[in-house]
Amino acid sequence: MKQKNLLEIKELSVGFKSDNSTINVLNDISLDIKKNEILGIAGESGSGKSVLALSTLKLLPKHSFINKGSILFENRDILSLNEKEMQKIRGKEIGIIFQDPSSSLSPLLKIRKQIKEAILFHSKKDSKEIEEESIRILEKLNIKDAKQKLNSYPYELSGGLKQRIIIAISIMQSAKLIIADEPTTALDVTTQAQILDIFKKIKEEGTSILFISHNLGVINKICDRVAIIYASNIVEEGATDDIFSSPKHPYTKALLKAIPELTTKKKKLDTIAGQILIPSLYGNFCHFHNRCPFAFERCRNEKPKLKIVDRNRKVACFLEDKK
Ligand code: SF4
Repeated sequence: MKQKNLLEIKELSVGFKSDNSTINVLNDISLDIKKNEILGIAGESGSGKSVLALSTLKLLPKHSFINKGSILFENRDILSLNEKEMQKIRGKEIGIIFQDPSSSLSPLLKIRKQIKEAILFHSKKDSKEIEEESIRILEKLNIKDAKQKLNSYPYELSGGLKQRIIIAISIMQSAKLIIADEPTTALDVTTQAQILDIFKKIKEEGTSILFISHNLGVINKICDRVAIIYASNIVEEGATDDIFSSPKHPYTKALLKAIPELTTKKKKLDTIAGQILIPSLYGNFCHFHNRCPFAFERCRNEKPKLKIVDRNRKVACFLEDKK
């Protein structure tokens, strides 16, 4: 039986207003996340990954707007909801975790108060219940001396601990979907591995995760499926194992080649020549053509569409038409 989608994004385009013009920073993005699934969104800085995260919770900055498309969460049309309705969904049903956990915690309040305020925003639990649940969840996330940590201010905790507190709040609110935007980027490698284990655990317990990262190594470790995004478009999507074992899009191939290997004898690391296009230069052509070693005339005059090419694999590249 086909698994139901928890989140469905269809043909989403997001624009930013500049002085006299508008620029599309996301173009025709279609994605879905099933229950109990981790979907990775991978791409370099400036590709539109974070705009996608913010769009899903209607948290886009003022100068931006949704040009077209739809976002369905459990079949509810997110884009038609008003601010009051969105407040009921944010945190409670869809949690968000940012790269810098300090930006999500108030420096002036103890952790206990911050957890309590977040929980009481959506439920009517009493203080004793929240305290007991906080300790239980923090211990589950391998936080030692949980009671003492509740009594701390954020500045007294490490980045890894703060990130775990944010994850704990999402778990306590029973979020069905967690959007994690570069959640391990600011952490050391050991703490990063611990946080990834926590994500795997909460997925096994029924939470879906939209995991955004520029780090393909991290994506490979925990995601079931991955979408590669480049300069506002998804260029390849499929099961993580398939994408990592046989990438099809020239950008995905170049990205994977650029991952440093410990065993390599190469003196120079592989890089992708050239720069990602700035949004004001986006147009009706393949946005990767200026860096692609296989670019031909059609790539400069037409935009490739994301098409199913093989066993649920989708690719946006004209080379697929030549096969
Ligand atoms: Fe390269 Fe053309 Fe494919 Fe774009 S469409 S990735 S330029 S071959």
